[in-house]
Amino acid sequence: MTNYFYTDASGKKQGPINSRQLRTLAAQGIITPETVIANEQGKSAPARKVKGPEFNTLTDKENQMNYTLIHYKSIFTLAAIAIISIFAFAVPLSGQAQKQYEIANPYANVDWATFGQYKAAFHTHSTNSDGADTRAAMIEDHYTKGYDILNMADHDFVTIAWDEPGYGRGPGQNRPGRGILSSERRAEIEAGVGRNGRGMIGIPFGNEQSSTDHIITMWADFNNSARATLTAEQRMAETLGVVEFAGGISIIAHPGRYTGGQNADLMVGAAASNNPAQIKKYVDLFLAFPNSLVGMEIMNRLDNETRSDRILWDNILMQTMPKGKSVWGFSNDDSHGIDETGFNYNVMLLPELTADATRHALETGAFYAVGRVDRRLGVNTFDRGGNVMPNNGSAATAYLYTEMTAPSISNIVVRDGAITIEGADYDYIGWVADGVEIFRGNTINLNDHSGKVHSYIRAHVVGTGGVAYTQPFGIIVNGASR
Ligand SMILES: [Zn+2]
Ligand SMILES: [Zn+2]
Repeated sequence: MTNYFYTDASGKKQGPINSRQLRTLAAQGIITPETVIANEQGKSAPARKVKGPEFNTLTDKENQMNYTLIHYKSIFTLAAIAIISIFAFAVPLSGQAQKQYEIANPYANVDWATFGQYKAAFHTHSTNSDGADTRAAMIEDHYTKGYDILNMADHDFVTIAWDEPGYGRGPGQNRPGRGILSSERRAEIEAGVGRNGRGMIGIPFGNEQSSTDHIITMWADFNNSARATLTAEQRMAETLGVVEFAGGISIIAHPGRYTGGQNADLMVGAAASNNPAQIKKYVDLFLAFPNSLVGMEIMNRLDNETRSDRILWDNILMQTMPKGKSVWGFSNDDSHGIDETGFNYNVMLLPELTADATRHALETGAFYAVGRVDRRLGVNTFDRGGNVMPNNGSAATAYLYTEMTAPSISNIVVRDGAITIEGADYDYIGWVADGVEIFRGNTINLNDHSGKVHSYIRAHVVGTGGVAYTQPFGIIVNGASR
């Protein structure tokens, strides 16, 4: 089979791809008639001169809609099979009343009227690993851009506190930190100087453990070591175990990098995220560390490597939620420089801005995640020049947060088997159960969707400026006992 390479919108060479993938990318509009295609011999030509790709004449928006429909259709078929098999056990007796639903609401303890909404970035790099800007510059940049909580997560480097050197892996695990913020400036930032008293705080002991598949860890004075003899999953389990023992908490970073879900071909990415072996790897880890492994990134950069990770998330939830383990979804910039900061965040719902309150919300799910680009839902899949949205945020894509407003959530009410979301700056609220969007509207009454909701439901609040993702609500169906 012939392999091809192509140059993407950002000028990066991509591939190899086979002829089938070439056709798919052309149909998606990712490969345009002018995209330069090269074969394995290095011969190149614009795609319109290459035999194979058929170019879709639909507009970008129509393409995206088609794509979303195809995606949902394929999931629907799978879900239908699952529902039929579950129904065999759940057929109600004749004359039976409606099912009763117990809803485990991660926002149950949030007082929406009095709690603050705090923007948090949990995954930020600096020159203490491979970032372009110093730790102090990254802290100042987040402060300027309105973040309230910042976890520095340099690769294999422990940021004990913004104004302490910390340490990185190296001879004696002793590589000292650079770009340290002064204690005076730390105190000013925490006090909200120059921001009308609205402070920003740091999380202690941030790290992106990178000897394993990347794991963001906090509150654990620990740096993982390279253990080449262990499998990827064993190394993850080892790191997660030590972090738990040290009293920390962990978040899985950009899983699509490891599952293959990052593939630009959304069909290939979906297949990777539906791969039972990949799903099992994460389910096993979440069930092994239910108290300290709190969640996973469902959004990283401009939905680059995470483009199929909401599919993976749903697949994981389908297995962990029946066992009582919620997996919270995170949206992080994974910023490696100030131009990459400002696109994604997590809105922490806290009675007060402290590290302890943040940790409690991380453990209980009292937050929602916000991203500017969702390549699955067709939100900002294309930039305003009509090109496929670049993978990384930059000055050229800053309009996504300087000129557009992302959706927000102002209240969530759970009552009598129904969940209601109030918010702003959105076009619709979609409700997802078992990986399928089953309903759109502000209020979902679970009794109206009998048979489609089994162990969880979550919502995405979708607008032109981005998407706000709720955490999963746990569902227990009490039908058979009535
Ligand atoms: Zn990473
Ligand atoms: Zn990172």
